[in-house]
Amino acid sequence: MVRDILTYPHPLLRTPTKKVQVIDREIEELVRDMFETMYQADGVGLAANQIGVSLSVMVMDTTPKKEAPPVKLVLINPEVVSQEGSISYKEGCLSFPGLTVEVERFNKLQVRALNLRGEEVHYTLEGFPAVVFQHEMDHLMGITFVDRVKGLKRRMALERYSKLQKQRV
Ligand SMILES: [Zn+2]
Repeated sequence: MVRDILTYPHPLLRTPTKKVQVIDREIEELVRDMFETMYQADGVGLAANQIGVSLSVMVMDTTPKKEAPPVKLVLINPEVVSQEGSISYKEGCLSFPGLTVEVERFNKLQVRALNLRGEEVHYTLEGFPAVVFQHEMDHLMGITFVDRVKGLKRRMALERYSKLQKQRV
């Protein structure tokens, strides 16, 4: 089921999510809905709190378009194990429709998480997938991409966003 995506400044986007204690049918359903919602919105990553569920769950699919098969990642209670290098990327966010912000992040990460079977999984992410992971990891901690830029850049991004919102009404 496609769910509504919360947009900034919804308070759940500023609230750190809780760890998942039991991976049950409810979590399976949540993950299924997250993929449907993400694909429908043409996104490459989604955090559970973006659809109003304050749990530490993210999904990602950064497969380049039309290349099969898609690599669908489900990350429950994800953690960064190590990080290195830096990359600057113009990011978008489904919770800030229309806004792009250039953010600097780590270029390479080792991460671990649980999958839907409750097994610990490890991934090495580099470049774009690393950017997407860090963006979604921030969501799970109640941080949005405008929090990752400072001063004038941040103010200008928020101004652009408020203009975009007015155009939408
Ligand atoms: Zn986002």
